[in-house]
Amino acid sequence: MTDEKQRVAIVTGASRGIGAAIVERLASDGMAVIVNYAHSREPAERLAAEIERAGGKALAVEANVASTDGVPLLFDAAERTFGGVDILVNNAGIMEFAPLADVSDEALERQIAINLGGVVRGMREGARRLSDGGRIISFSSSVVGLYQPSYGIYAATKAATEALTHILAKELGQRAITVNAVAPGPVETELFTKGKSNEQIAVISRMNPLGRLGRPRDIADVVAFLAGPDSGWVNGQVIRANGGVI
Ligand code: NAP
Repeated sequence: MTDEKQRVAIVTGASRGIGAAIVERLASDGMAVIVNYAHSREPAERLAAEIERAGGKALAVEANVASTDGVPLLFDAAERTFGGVDILVNNAGIMEFAPLADVSDEALERQIAINLGGVVRGMREGARRLSDGGRIISFSSSVVGLYQPSYGIYAATKAATEALTHILAKELGQRAITVNAVAPGPVETELFTKGKSNEQIAVISRMNPLGRLGRPRDIADVVAFLAGPDSGWVNGQVIRANGGVI
C-alpha cells in the first residue's frame, strides 16, 4: 500500500446489503472503490454516484464473480480508472436452505460457483494483481461454527473460504499482503430475511446476547479495520463478528 497514492478497493457484491455498507465506509475512509454487482445495476450506480457527489471516487462495474472473466474485469476497470488495486473484498455470496436430503443439484452448483468459485477467482486474481502491502478480505459466516440444520451447502462453501484464507495468507506473506476473513452472524439483509417469517426473525434476534440482528454497518466497520493501516499484524485470521451468538 502506497502512502502518497489514494488506496483502491474492489468490493464484490456491493449493490446492497453488507457490500454496499462496506463501499460507503471505505469511501468515507478515503479509498477509491469499485462497486461490483451482477444484476442490480440501478442501486450500484446510484451508490457510486452518491459517493462521487460527496467528493469520493467510485465506479459501478457489472461482473459475475462466478464466471472466468468476471473478477479480471473488475481488476481491469480498477487499473484503468484508478491506477491499481490495494484491497479486494470478496463479499458476493448467496444462501439457499435445504436439509441435505433435499438439496438439488442446481442449488449445490449455484452456491459452489458463487460462494466458493467466486472467492477462489477473487483470491487468484488478487494474488496476481494486488499491490504489495495490500489486503484480501473474504466472507465466511458464523454458521460454520453453529452447524444449523438446512445450512449444509452454504456452511460448506464458507468453511472452504476459511481454509483458503489460511493458506493464501501463507502464500502472500512475503509481499506483505494480509489475507483475512470475516464471519458475520445473522445480519439484516435480503440474504438473511428472504424466506423467513417476522416471528422467525424475532426469535433469531432474541438468541443474540445483544438482543438484535447485526446491521450491515457493524460488519463494514470490521472490514474497514482489516482494510486499513491498523491491521497490518492481523493475518490469516477469521474474525467472527456476530454480537456473541457463538
Ligand atoms: P445480499 O444482501 O443478498 O447481497 C448480496 C450481494 O451479492 C448483492 O450485491 C448481489 O448483487 C451480489 N451477488 C450475488 N451473486 C453475485 C455474483 N455471481 N457476482 C457478483 N455479485 C453477486 O447479501 P449480504 O447479506 O449482504 O451478504 C454479503 C456476504 O456476507 C455474503 O458472502 C454472505 O454469505 C455473507 N454473510 C451474510 C450474513 C447475513 O446474515 N446477511 C451472515 C453471514 C455471512 P446482485 O443483486 O447484482 O446480484
